[in-house]
Amino acid sequence: MKKFVYNFKEGNKDMRSLLGGKGANLAEMSTLGINVPSGFTITTESCNDYYDNNMRIKPEIIKQINEQLEQLEKTMGKKLGSLENPLLVSVRSGAVFSMPGMMDTILNLGLNDETTIVLAKKNNDYKFAYDSYRRFIQMFADVVMGVEKYKFEAVLTKVREKNGYAEDKDMSADDLFKVAEEFKKIYKKEVGAEFPTNVKEQLMLAVEAVFKSWNNNRAKVYRRLNGISDKLGTAVNVQAMVFGNMGDNCGTGVCFSRNPATGENKLFGEYLINAQGEDVVAGIRTPKPVAVLEEEYPKLYKELVNITKVLEKHYKDMQDIEFTIENEKLYILQTRNGKRTAKAAVEIAVSLVQQGLITKEEALLRVNSDDINQLLHPTFEESALKDAVILTQGLAASPGAATGHIYFTAEEAVEASIERKVILVREETSPEDIEGMVSSQAIITSRGGMTSHAAVVARGMGKCCVCGAQNMIIDYENKKVKIGEVTLQEGDILSVDGSSGKVYQGDVKKSDSSFSESFRKIIEWADETRELKVFANADNERDAKAAFNFGAEGIGLCRTEHMFFEEDRISLVRKMILSASESERKVYLDRLQPIQSEDFYKIFKEAEGKSVNIRLLDPPLHEFLPHEEKTIEIIAKELDVTVSQLENKIKSIAEFNPMMGHRGCRLGVTYPEIYLMQAKAITQAAIRARKDGVEVNVEIMIPLVGIEKELSYLREKIEALIEKDIQNYKEVFNYKIGTMIEIPRACLIADKIAEYAEFFSFGTNDLTQMTFGYSRDDAEKFIDIYKKKKILENDPFIHLDENGVLELMKLAVNKAKKAKPNIKLGICGEHGGDEKSIALVSKIGIDYVSCSPYRVLIAKLAAAKAAIENRK
Ligand code: PEP
Ligand code: MG
Repeated sequence: MKKFVYNFKEGNKDMRSLLGGKGANLAEMSTLGINVPSGFTITTESCNDYYDNNMRIKPEIIKQINEQLEQLEKTMGKKLGSLENPLLVSVRSGAVFSMPGMMDTILNLGLNDETTIVLAKKNNDYKFAYDSYRRFIQMFADVVMGVEKYKFEAVLTKVREKNGYAEDKDMSADDLFKVAEEFKKIYKKEVGAEFPTNVKEQLMLAVEAVFKSWNNNRAKVYRRLNGISDKLGTAVNVQAMVFGNMGDNCGTGVCFSRNPATGENKLFGEYLINAQGEDVVAGIRTPKPVAVLEEEYPKLYKELVNITKVLEKHYKDMQDIEFTIENEKLYILQTRNGKRTAKAAVEIAVSLVQQGLITKEEALLRVNSDDINQLLHPTFEESALKDAVILTQGLAASPGAATGHIYFTAEEAVEASIERKVILVREETSPEDIEGMVSSQAIITSRGGMTSHAAVVARGMGKCCVCGAQNMIIDYENKKVKIGEVTLQEGDILSVDGSSGKVYQGDVKKSDSSFSESFRKIIEWADETRELKVFANADNERDAKAAFNFGAEGIGLCRTEHMFFEEDRISLVRKMILSASESERKVYLDRLQPIQSEDFYKIFKEAEGKSVNIRLLDPPLHEFLPHEEKTIEIIAKELDVTVSQLENKIKSIAEFNPMMGHRGCRLGVTYPEIYLMQAKAITQAAIRARKDGVEVNVEIMIPLVGIEKELSYLREKIEALIEKDIQNYKEVFNYKIGTMIEIPRACLIADKIAEYAEFFSFGTNDLTQMTFGYSRDDAEKFIDIYKKKKILENDPFIHLDENGVLELMKLAVNKAKKAKPNIKLGICGEHGGDEKSIALVSKIGIDYVSCSPYRVLIAKLAAAKAAIENRK
């Protein structure tokens, strides 16, 4: 016969999936000898059986419940419904994963008019008995019959007001008797039947109500938000009641074995004297901090501290504990691993290692990348968020919390930023907006996904950014934006949460980032544990500095085009692109070369010999061209052509599908002089650095190769140039030439490409774009719908696609290694800073991941966790 009901003495903490978290822990505590009121657990399988059985509890389960009830009655020396010594029980839900407040609880079950009188007489306490009864009627009506709570609350309020009582606990026995009578009347009116006096019927209805609560709306939403399966079902715990409401030497409370906000190793929590559990949560009375218990009942406080220590040691984690005091005797009603802030997560993990309770590896597994993200950036205060008005939610593109005055163009943002904090609001950003982005506290766009320009650049800068906020309509002309129903003007204030993607109206209070000693320890342990190297994507000296500050082991991607947008360069770049002939183009390239060289030199100095991967020009040329009339006029003058000639030239460069167009190595093949200028700039910078005694390990990366001949053709030219300069300047430096793998074809012929490459860096942004055929700038429009319809589980631009893109990468890695066993392999797309993606790529034999500087620590932790999991 299948077992559907377990006595607390029969279970243990490892039986979570059957007994639910609460049931498993009650069982574990019972065996540990902790003072837990006796009881039994009806399994999650019974709940699933109830749903499989057309929402009926089958006779076999009812039989087992009755058997366990009998046993409980024996243990307690009391009997449910007895008129001599009545047993009262609580009936509580207990899911496999904690779902706080989502499902239902009933206390004091077993009371009716008769047993209440017996209870009153036995304890010589009518007040307590009727207080318990009125609570039970209300909870039963609410949970089992769905009668709204406020109907009962209104009665209590009336009695309080009439008698001038501050709290419910001031009511007399007589008041409470009348309240209970009133409650029964409300029950009858709302339900259309008398309040059930049969205690067995009460019990079965309560158990059924808990099963039903598994599928109430709030539980379903909670599960969806937290990725909990609908199939798990809830267990039901039936437990002998202990009473915190029997007088002033009774009480109930909730405490944490450590402070869940800061991690401080000190009992933290609150309690109420003469109260039952729900009073603490309901917020009707203000509980006292648990520290006051030390003054009121020092012995009990000491006992509570000891129990929390025992439980913490046993569970090897911070515990969230519910307790009740009945006539100065302490009972533990529940324990579970406590929820905590990011700061506390780090502090507690490190402290538990130092106490010898967990290993460093376990500590690493307990810290989430979200925690690290929160600690690195400012966050909005929880209390402030409660009242904040959310205007829209886009993609959480780059974490942080920022407030500022909104501006709609980069120029206006730059100008306004001199006097006030600004937020740049755009449909999308382009490289031209770079200065506006630098000057802003945050960036919001209405279009674009996680690899759009705004997202990538903001992450690189460690700047807060929300992308693809789709219900935002910007009216550039009139300098206003409509977000849902709200219209805002230039200069109005918004607060942006780049970690949740939410945008709030007005100024929301923030707390600073925090980088503690324990945080440093976690990173130190991650460094000892991980196998993947962690590099950073850095486009200039500033990024490189940040990257090395965070402990990057090299630069995995320097996107040289970003250097072209700075003010002193863009006009030279534009003239170079718009030149009529190769010789004219060379004039401008010659002027650009020392500028780029200076940039590279500075990066080499920051790197101090660590590898620096410089990617030659990648984006389609028209991205650099002017769009505004005024700028076109100026350039036409400087180039000595008419405005319409220039406009025609600009039109001729534009492409229908630029992401698949004339970009990457295709530019190098058509205009080798551009790549050769960049190679020369690198060489000159390297030679200069070497002469200054700085070690140089540079990697020259040719993007978007899909045919091996693209690489061999460009490689030959670049290599010749470098070797010639090395000879001329008699200064040697280490260099490698390789490619990005970001086109599916490149994966398929990776062995052939490897012949000409000393390294591969997977550009997973483009590889995802081209494997799925989704535009990385527009796909967010339908990816959201795909996710809702469960066609896609994740946005593949955020979490690497395991079944498709990763398979292509595996193929490429295997082919490349076969052709060139010591080839250096890494990834530099945005997935390089994503915990889930890092776990996947850690299994395919690559050497490093590269991500934006502000994600280096996340990548280190993720790589360490991946190594631990892989070793398992
Ligand atoms: C990539 O495609 O993954 C990549 C890193 O290059 P970019 O994002 O500059 O196209
Ligand atoms: Mg790319």
